[in-house]
Amino acid sequence: MTDSILIVGGGIAGLHAALECTNAGARAIVVERGPVVGGRLAATMLEPSAIGDRSEGTRTPLFNAIQENENIELLTLSELENIEGKPGNFTVSVREQARFVTDACTRCKNCHTVCPQVRPSEFDAGLTHRKAISTPMSDTLPEPYFIDIEDCLNTPPNYLPCNRCIEVCDDNAIHFDMALETVHQRQVGAVILAPGFKTEDPSRFVEMGYGAHPDVVTSAELQRLLEDPGPTGGYASKPSNEEYPESVLLVLDNPSPFALYIVASQVHQLLEQDVAKVAVLILAQPNDESREAAQGLADTAGIEVFWGTLFKVDPSEDAELEVSYEDLTVNRFVRSAYDMVVLCVDVEPPVGLARLAEAAGIELTDNGYLAVSGGNGTVIGTSRDGVFVAGCASGAKNIKSSLTESQAAAAAATALLDPRVLEAGSDEAAQPAADGQIPPAVQNDMRKQLEQLLYALINR
Ligand code: SF4
Ligand code: SF4
Repeated sequence: MTDSILIVGGGIAGLHAALECTNAGARAIVVERGPVVGGRLAATMLEPSAIGDRSEGTRTPLFNAIQENENIELLTLSELENIEGKPGNFTVSVREQARFVTDACTRCKNCHTVCPQVRPSEFDAGLTHRKAISTPMSDTLPEPYFIDIEDCLNTPPNYLPCNRCIEVCDDNAIHFDMALETVHQRQVGAVILAPGFKTEDPSRFVEMGYGAHPDVVTSAELQRLLEDPGPTGGYASKPSNEEYPESVLLVLDNPSPFALYIVASQVHQLLEQDVAKVAVLILAQPNDESREAAQGLADTAGIEVFWGTLFKVDPSEDAELEVSYEDLTVNRFVRSAYDMVVLCVDVEPPVGLARLAEAAGIELTDNGYLAVSGGNGTVIGTSRDGVFVAGCASGAKNIKSSLTESQAAAAAATALLDPRVLEAGSDEAAQPAADGQIPPAVQNDMRKQLEQLLYALINR
């Protein structure tokens, strides 16, 4: 008999599922492909420091809740290899890559200063740079830095042409002699897949002007600018000169509910920062649903929404951007000037999702997401019994829906464990119902804090 649930994905959906499982008395093993858990959204949850230095934010309740929870095991730089067995009694194999930095790391940054290998920071949407030894943000779980061995000048084992980082590490935390890979085996009763999503490569926007001027940015880049721990401390300043924009145009060519949700969030944040003119250009023919959603955005935010085709951006001599498009509502060609243009990128299945589906023995949809089957509208099942999905791995959705799925998946997963192994003393309200429905919310302080934080983010 096992008391454990495996959760693949250490983003918000995965961590929320882990907390739900432990609240029900189970143990949660969280497997994350990247070097830290929390995902992109965790970065937005670092609270600005009381002394005003936004680069050193304070830890949020989410990280504390995870770190202090003895029933959550984190495996980072790790991927699911295989699942054998049946619901209630699976054997899972997880392959973990070496971090090359131990828990002795005190995050002193000495290594980062001397490392000669510079790369664009994936975490800052390429707006800043990182080194081969780095940490993605000012507070992480786990805490030690890590070495991206693909970028490092050293090629282990035993070939050490660089070593600058080791020479300045007073804490003796860097070890290139670690085993390159470790395979872990665990017994679990169920598996929850919550690996998240990735944003599309912006290369298709080159013909629209992306790359021709620094103030033409993607929505992923704007999002990072709008986040407190981001490179500008949370302000949408123009990359060309760091001045605040007076006018911003957001352009999207796929007015899906998810894309409109992101656009609405960014419009509200720009207006909160007193950007005088914010407008949205949708490069599509409106249908009833998208027209209504766009009109709702225009009415609530008090902005203009245009429907157009043949979009192009040209830098003009007076440092503004000239935007040309055909306005479908009046059937005429329009030229307008904006300080910044934001190109809205689509979301896609996360890197490695096909491999994960193969390892888990479940099916993908035609567009590459995890296929969901069965279920009753709240519980998210897959083509394999005992394996559940939560969040964007089954298709783009907002945070609120992802969290609802996390709760449902955790309830269904813990229902597959023998109730006798669940930790005594766990809140009875958190025990899964026999039919796999979402249990009543557990009103303890930590969860209330976490949910308030998440819903504040959703609604801002
Ligand atoms: S020098 Fe050593 S202790 Fe300091 S951040 Fe780098 S690995 Fe960590
Ligand atoms: S060995 Fe050199 S290249 Fe590799 S992480 Fe250390 S300083 Fe950077």
